[in-house]
This record gives sequence, structure tokens and C-alpha cells, in this order.
Amino acid sequence: HENHPTLMMIFGATGDLAKRKLFPSLYKLFEKGKLTDQFAVIGVARRPLTNEEFQQSIKDSVKTAIEKEDRIEEFASHFYYHSHDVTDSASYAVLKKMANDLDEQYHLHGNRIFYLAMAPEFFGTIALHLKEDGLTDVKGYKRLVIEKPFGHDLESAKELNKQIRTAFSEKEIYRIDHYLGKEMVQNIEVIRFANAIFEPLWNNRYISNIQVTSSEILGVEERGRYYENSGALRDMVQNHMLQMVALLAMEPPIRLTTEEIRSEKVKVLRALRSIDGEDVKEFFVRGQYGAGTIDGHDVPGYREEPMVDAHSNTETFVAGKLLIDNFRWAGVPFYIRTGKRMEAKSTKIIIQFKDIPMNLYYRPEEPLNPNLLVIHIQPEEGITLHLNAKKARQNEVATPIKLNYANKGMNGYNTPESYEKLLYDCMRGDATNFTHWDEVALSWSFTDKISHVWENTVEEHFPNYAAGTMGPKCADELLEKDGFFWWPIS
Ligand code: NAD
Repeated sequence: HENHPTLMMIFGATGDLAKRKLFPSLYKLFEKGKLTDQFAVIGVARRPLTNEEFQQSIKDSVKTAIEKEDRIEEFASHFYYHSHDVTDSASYAVLKKMANDLDEQYHLHGNRIFYLAMAPEFFGTIALHLKEDGLTDVKGYKRLVIEKPFGHDLESAKELNKQIRTAFSEKEIYRIDHYLGKEMVQNIEVIRFANAIFEPLWNNRYISNIQVTSSEILGVEERGRYYENSGALRDMVQNHMLQMVALLAMEPPIRLTTEEIRSEKVKVLRALRSIDGEDVKEFFVRGQYGAGTIDGHDVPGYREEPMVDAHSNTETFVAGKLLIDNFRWAGVPFYIRTGKRMEAKSTKIIIQFKDIPMNLYYRPEEPLNPNLLVIHIQPEEGITLHLNAKKARQNEVATPIKLNYANKGMNGYNTPESYEKLLYDCMRGDATNFTHWDEVALSWSFTDKISHVWENTVEEHFPNYAAGTMGPKCADELLEKDGFFWWPIS
């Protein structure tokens, strides 16, 4: 492996994200030799902690996530803690001194990654202080990693962007969309561009529709306060769902570089037909879960969850029909749906091909199935191709068969976590799987028009789906209008 000396400063180092994702991912990189001895981490958070206490929390978090932890002591010794108030200049001076000392001690060549793993309202302040108090004044690289949500709408995203751009250039900003770190999301490009049998068919002549589903079993849990101001459209559609659509719809880039790929994705988002005003109810439907049963347990409805308004108008489910107005996709609907408290935890993409021109195997009682390409993103990872073939000992009858490829377990180890890959990309300076500002802005301007309508009309039918189901009836009707239906995801 190449050596990537780095000092990483994690703001929000006692938080949930740091413990569940960042520390275990860093440990895996360390174990694989992708992180050498030339690294140090400064954890920053409000709570007063000693280095020893902080290192203990690192060990605990790694042990909870990973069974094997042979080099845990050595790993944890690279972690340091600074109790910090993000608005206090004096505190940044201490942080700067600490960073410079560690830089020298571990030979980090002045390379710095600032990872903001805390509430977004602090992002602007932190960026400003990092610059004003000299922490970004380094001879190596400086990079800013920033978590979702990137703003609440286009206006606030612009404001946030303006603040972080005072200290970092666009090239230095790594906006996390952890879906882009998922193995099978990254695989969309490979499946499309490395096979002769898909790309020639990847257009409106051969594809009838595309369905992207991302369903969760979990409810809103203790995140009610955040979710009430967000809802599924902002939380899932603006970022993850539109990113998957962009990867599915983009033109082949002229080469696999960050700029080329991002620029093709941006073109898709520019071609996305904007849905406004009266059209919103034609193209988008929303849902909110009521009480229901999951795995034999009764669960409360959204409005009964902690920190949620008893008359909440917030959507916990969205389904929509997207149209991409370009030569390749004119007339092909991209259906998306996502929600909480659904029947299954599953992220899947289903590409439905058009029917063949003439069916020689027509039987009224059993119509021929269309070909489907299913990309399983999570929890299982793989590809299934649905074909029709003749099975042994049956006469000339075409029967549906499936060609299956499961990614997991193939190589004898689990595929790396998104965060492991994204952290490594950031250390190597590869921003391909992070969201560019142009993508963020275009996505917000698309979803803002829908939010605007939804926020100004009370949905009287909420709650409109029971926990543990595949969402409200209106989501099925959205496809029925076009003569389609959601393919089962299990
Ligand atoms: P959290 O509430 O668990 O942790 C917040 C951290 O920020 C703590 O370490 C806290 O000490 C620190 N902090 C808060 N106020 C501070 C201040 N004034 N000065 C210094 N430190 C302060 O939050 P989290 O769940 O870890 O999420 C962090 C960020 O990541 C958020 O932007 C969230 O939206 C995003 N995110 C989290 C997850 C997740 O799985 N937890 C997933 C996606 C995105």
C-alpha cells in the first residue's frame, strides 16, 4: 500500500457516528495496512475526557463492532483528545498546538483531515475558526469531511457552502453520502460500463421502467426532533435516492476520473424534469406510518414517537416518478420509494426491460415475465438477472429462471463498510464518491419544490400506512396509472 500520512481531527468524537462507524472503520484500515504508523487522530468534543479515557472509548467501540482486534492497543495509542467549545478561539489555539506537535511526532507532512461529525449548525463556525485560528495553515493537504444533512433546503445549503468555502476550496470539501460508499452502488458503473450486454440496451428502446426502493424496518427512534424538521424527502430522496438515479442514468464518462464522473451525474440532475405546484400530486405521494406489527411486536405510530407532534404533517415515506428529459431516457419512468417502518430492510434497484416484440410462448393463464436486472444494494449484495428459459422435462414452455451473483462471502470476508472506503478515499484524495456542490444544489432545487407544496398542504389521511407494510396504497396507484406495479423486493 501507498503510505498516506494523515492527522485526522474528528469534531464530535464522543458521538454516535464516531463510535459506530468512524473508529471501527479506521481500525480496519489500520489492520489492513492502509493506515500506517504515520497517523494520529485528535478527538474533539465538549465532554472533558483524558487521553486514556478517550483511548478506552476507542477500544470499546472497535471491540463492539469487530470480533478480531489483535492490534487494538497499538491502534488506540494514536488517539488524542481535546475537550473543546467550537465557538471559543482560545480553544482552537490549544488544538493548533496539539496538531503541530503530533504532526512532528508522527511525521505527518502537514496533511490534515477535518471530519465534522456533529450537528450541522456548527459546520460554518468550525470552518471559520479553523481558518482564522490557523489550523488550516499547513504545508500538506487540508480536507474537510462533512456529514449529511447538507442544509435544509437550497437556501440554507448555499449559506452553509459559503461558510465552509471561506476556509476550503471545492476540491478540498468531501461531502459524505454514505450510499456512495456502498459496494453495490459503486458496482452500478461497473455493471453498466464493463459489460457488452447491458449498455447497448440501457435506454428508452429497451428499458420499460426503473424502480429504486430503499426501505427500513426501523422507525424514527430517538431522532424525532431532527426528523420532524426533515422527513423522508430531505432525509433520503435529496441525497441517496437521487444519487442512485444519477448513477443509473448517466452517460458513460469519457474516463473514470472524479471530474468526468461527477460531470455526467450533474447532467442527469439537470435533465431531471422539475415537478412543481399542481404536478406534485401527479408525480409524488407521501406517507406516514401508523401503529402496526413488526416481527410479532406491536409498534407505535409515528405521531406517538418521542419528540413528534401529535398532529405531525411530516412524511416518513415518499414515492415518486422521475422523468429524465434527454435522448436516452425520454419516456422511461424512474420510480423511487423510501420509508421507515416498512416490511423489510432493503435497498434494491430493479431494471425492467420491455417485452419482446412477439411472444411465441404466449399462454393466457401465464403471461411471459419481462426480463429484470436486479441490483441488490443492502442488506444482501449482488445481482440477479431474471430470464425465461425452458426447464428440463417441460415441453416448449418458457419458465422464469434467475441468474444470481451474491457479492457477500465470495471472497471469504465481508465487503468493507462504506465509511471504511470513504475514509480511505479521502486520505488518498479521491473525491469521486463524494457529492459535488453542483449535485447538492440541483438536488435541493428539485426537492424544494415538492417540500414547498407538502408543507403548505396538510395531509389529512396521515397516518396512511401501518407499520410493517410496504407503504400507502397511493404508492401502488402511482405505478398502476402507468400500467406498472412495484416488483416485490423480497
Ligand atoms: P451525536 O449527537 O451522537 O454526537 C454529537 C457530537 O458533537 C458529540 O461528540 C458532542 O460532544 C459533540 N458536540 C456537540 N456540541 C458541541 C459543541 N458545542 N462543541 C464541541 N462539541 C460538541 O451525533 P451523531 O449521531 O454522531 O451525528 C453527527 C453528525 O453526523 C450529524 O451531522 C448527523 O446528522 C450526521 N450523521 C449521523 C449518522 C449516524 O449514524 N449517527 C448518520 C448519518 C449522518
